[in-house]
Amino acid sequence: LLQVRQLFKHYGSNVVLKGIDMDVRAGQLVSIIGPSGSGKSTLLRCCNRMENASSGQVLVEGKDIYDPRSNLNKLRERVGMVFQAFNLYPHLTVLSNVALALTKVKKMPRAQAEKVAIDALRKVGMEHKADARPAQLSGGQQQRVGIARSIAMRPALVLFDEPTSALDPEMVGGVLEVMRELRNDGMTMVVVTHEMGFAKAASDHVVFMEDGVIVEQGHPDQVFGSPAQARTAAFVGGIG
Ligand code: ATP
Ligand code: MG
Repeated sequence: LLQVRQLFKHYGSNVVLKGIDMDVRAGQLVSIIGPSGSGKSTLLRCCNRMENASSGQVLVEGKDIYDPRSNLNKLRERVGMVFQAFNLYPHLTVLSNVALALTKVKKMPRAQAEKVAIDALRKVGMEHKADARPAQLSGGQQQRVGIARSIAMRPALVLFDEPTSALDPEMVGGVLEVMRELRNDGMTMVVVTHEMGFAKAASDHVVFMEDGVIVEQGHPDQVFGSPAQARTAAFVGGIG
């Protein structure tokens, strides 16, 4: 469903991605782990063209997203993104936050958009807060609304960039649980995370990046339990 081929990205002379090859199949949850500055966020952003890669290929559902004929708005409908910061509109209710892109981008009638939005909020356990404003919610609740907003668009794929790292520790579990449930529903997800327990237990595939390259990737049992590379072993430490 997502294929990344020989992807390079540089900012001036700083080469941040150095030939990334990665495949994500439909229904998989793929975790990307690695030290700060290794290029994880840049890789995600090159997969929905929030950044443009310098060279290489990204295919989403078989289509080259860097093809000049590819439609950026359509791409953003197919590839959702959830960030560390929740980016909800403070003046809108939870329901309106989730329904907004459906009416604006998908041109859905308001009533239908609200119905889809309520369904998405139910999936993340937040339908009881549909009429609240973001400021009335905890960080973990806001992040669940952010996830609802993304899945309401029925994307083919959702990219998560450290979705729990801005949360108080007691809020992390609920968000990770929502992500596990989405995976059980068959949603395809790529998750950059520092939650090693989650990466080990909930992923189909783990990618370890360092300094712009994929050092090692494979099944979590292998990457965490018997890493082939010394660098991976040092990073995952005692988790395996
Ligand atoms: P973290 O775990 O801290 O989030 P990361 O693995 O997500 O790190 P990136 O944010 O992808 O790392 O950054 C990789 C490198 O690219 C860093 O050296 C960073 O300074 C550089 N970089 C990222 N974005 C830009 C930008 N917009 N302009 C210039 N350099 C950038
Ligand atoms: Mg990052």
